[in-house]
Amino acid sequence: MERIDEIFGSMVFNDCVMKERLPKNTYTALKKAISLGVGIDISIADTVAETMKNWATEKGATHFCHWFQPMTGITAEKHDSFIVPKGDGHILMEFSGKELIKGEPDASAFPSGGLRATFEARGYTAWDPSSFAFVKDNTLCIPTAFCSYGGEALDKKTPLLRSMDAINKQALRIVKLFGLKDIEHINVTVGAEQEYFLIDKDMFSLRPDLMYCGRTLLGAKPPKGQEMNDHYFGVIKPRVAAFMKELDSELWKLGVLAKTEHNEAAPAQHELAPVFTTTNIAADHNQLTMEIMKKVADKHNLVCLLHEKPFDGVNGSGKHNNWSISTDTGINLLKPGKNPSSNMLFLLCLCAVIKAVDEHQDLLRFSVSSAGNDHRLGADEAPPAIISMYLGDDLTDILEAIEKGERHNDCEKVKMSVGTQTIPYIKKDNTDRNRTSPFAFTGNKFEFRMLGSASSVSDANIILNTIVADTFEEFADTLENAQDFDCAVRELLVTTVKEHKKILFGGDGYSSEWEKEAESRGLLNLKSTVDAIPYFTKEENIKLFEHHGVYNKTEIVCRSDIAYENYCKILHIEALTLLEMVKRDIVPAISDYTAHLCDCAEKKAKLNSANVELDIAKELNDCNELIYTLIANLEKALKKAENADLLCESAEIYHNEVLYIMQNIRKYADKAESITSRDFWPYPSYGDMLFKI
Ligand code: ADP
Ligand code: MG
Repeated sequence: MERIDEIFGSMVFNDCVMKERLPKNTYTALKKAISLGVGIDISIADTVAETMKNWATEKGATHFCHWFQPMTGITAEKHDSFIVPKGDGHILMEFSGKELIKGEPDASAFPSGGLRATFEARGYTAWDPSSFAFVKDNTLCIPTAFCSYGGEALDKKTPLLRSMDAINKQALRIVKLFGLKDIEHINVTVGAEQEYFLIDKDMFSLRPDLMYCGRTLLGAKPPKGQEMNDHYFGVIKPRVAAFMKELDSELWKLGVLAKTEHNEAAPAQHELAPVFTTTNIAADHNQLTMEIMKKVADKHNLVCLLHEKPFDGVNGSGKHNNWSISTDTGINLLKPGKNPSSNMLFLLCLCAVIKAVDEHQDLLRFSVSSAGNDHRLGADEAPPAIISMYLGDDLTDILEAIEKGERHNDCEKVKMSVGTQTIPYIKKDNTDRNRTSPFAFTGNKFEFRMLGSASSVSDANIILNTIVADTFEEFADTLENAQDFDCAVRELLVTTVKEHKKILFGGDGYSSEWEKEAESRGLLNLKSTVDAIPYFTKEENIKLFEHHGVYNKTEIVCRSDIAYENYCKILHIEALTLLEMVKRDIVPAISDYTAHLCDCAEKKAKLNSANVELDIAKELNDCNELIYTLIANLEKALKKAENADLLCESAEIYHNEVLYIMQNIRKYADKAESITSRDFWPYPSYGDMLFKI
């Protein structure tokens, strides 16, 4: 048995290793550069690089790579070996400070939204010393930012780091106003809970839709889904347990704080939650988690599906982004404490988040939009596409009292009795859980639950950090000029609650009544990616990002193009996959079985009782005819989408026409599946995939 404390971080060039191995002055200089966010001198970089290489080669590394996160949403790496020829037939293992600090991958094929024409393909990677280097697959991986020759961000890490700077700057102003002078840095913390499905590799390889699209495009519902709730938190099957054990161990070696593993709502669905950490590290670690999940699954003859909606009819997968702000002195600014109603700093921060979320619903919605997530948000499952916030009863009462100018008496945490002597009293949580809320306060943090399972958490956190930085700035401007500080804080709280309470909602977020109610409150209901993208490039949003130095206009326009492009490409691949499946497998299978039934009927003619065969054959034949017609329609719609002049027009066609026809084809194919003999159907069924692990 491996001991966790021995393997944890064993493949990471972390603070301990640096302290132990770097000369004292180099270590101090590096730490200082990291905490102040300033550049690193080349002589220091040389020493760090040499030490890193020696450590990494002891761990079996032969190569190094700049590990970065281009706008594909996944990670990229280009490997170089450490070897340098000596001239006498021997080699040296070398790694310089220059190689550590800067890389120049010829990365012209990554999406840039036109930021780099391919003839000017230069993109640079630059070391992010705040995220530790690590050894993975015999390679020393150096977390880096990726930018263009002109300094524009080409990745998800750069704007995330910028947004962390922005919120740090503004939040510092707020805490200083409260007399907390010893605070030098404000940190945003994130814990990203990751949902995923595990299915058998042999079944996966028989399904072109899973192979090409990561989700099933067809499949009749099995008799049983998730209605019994017997999978949620259920006993973990041995094969899955073995996977989870190895996953934990591999993640721990890489310093990822994997903490909780359990079964999720849908059959074959699971979740992993890490302990929270600094945002950019949480983002790096979430990327690593997704990669390692896939690799470890493969070793167990399983496939890990990270798509937001691999199976129709059961829950899809998301990521819960737990988000809070804390000081370098250890104060969590979103922790209510014993007396929340008189904890003015907490209330101000809480109101800052409420105002930010209400004013920037559009950006938050955009940050979680993708073709995959469209199948969850606004499609009858958790959470809805409308952004609202849930605070729990206690905080809601406090805010109501503030609005009315009344005093509120904080109640003690209520002790809860379960009605028997043998079980000790437990304290009730301040907030009960509202599982339908897309943005819930959960005790000492907010949980943003709309993120898709496959996407990087960076996008959502870039937006969150920026919009809260903006409110903090507005609050700080007001308060710094106030005559009577306490009075000004109260006034700010009152006006914020009055203006923004429309975003607060504690009821059932899935109900149709809420949709109506939200509309009357004037909340946005952006049902799809295509509806959400245009908001990103609005003039006021460009101003907001430029003001906080998170994105410039060019970067925003390019990212909006990439969002459209991604959407169109995904829909295109899905449509082609469906066409291939129906043309080459489904239509022939239905024909074969129909012919078989007709043969039977003919043979049984003498018995005068061929009703069964003929009825089914007729029904199948009708399905096939309809599918055949729809194939032609789909091909026509695809052409139309491809030939549209503008990206946004193309995306609209994919959304309104292509997707619609695909769903129609599915309807008839699924109906046919449910009445076709198993022996004739070409693909593993939902039942096989979801229940046979
Ligand atoms: P659950 O939501 O299942 O009850 P927890 O409340 O313990 O579980 O936490 C869920 C996630 O929230 C975990 O990933 C945890 O690390 C993270 N989390 C807890 N506190 C914070 C915080 N202050 N900032 C960010 N994330 C946090
Ligand atoms: Mg949770």
